[in-house]
Amino acid sequence: MGSVCIRCGGPKELPLGRCAACGHLPHRGEAALSVLASRRMLGERELLEVQSRIQRGEPLRPSVARLRAAEALVSGEGEDAPPLRAGQLLGLAGATLLFSPVLAFAGALAWRDTVRGKQALVIGAASTVLLTFAWFVIRLAPFQGPPVPPP
Ligand SMILES: [Zn+2]
Repeated sequence: MGSVCIRCGGPKELPLGRCAACGHLPHRGEAALSVLASRRMLGERELLEVQSRIQRGEPLRPSVARLRAAEALVSGEGEDAPPLRAGQLLGLAGATLLFSPVLAFAGALAWRDTVRGKQALVIGAASTVLLTFAWFVIRLAPFQGPPVPPP
């Protein structure tokens, strides 16, 4: 047994897999708790203890430190796109301002659910605001023709 279902305590192999007993599939908010109820975080005896607590209907109340450790484990798993470095951020921001915020939003879509995706989203939103503002300034600025030379 690699892990137990956090809803019914049924045994499962993968902490984020579907429970064969009750059909429960942990959603993203339950990922950390599910990993916590597995051999990745617990010893065999602890896991059995957690299992019997779930089966008795007791709520799981892991310590904050344990939950954080499990969260780190969960977020580290899908980390194929590490956060953009400062230079890359500047490059993306520059390209976005030069061409279109669509660039950043495309990045946000491609890297969704990662830190990198959030960075791209912020850049896209910021440049949209900036470009819209620039457009208004250009449109609303009074036209000033060349000075008329005195006769
Ligand atoms: Zn279950």
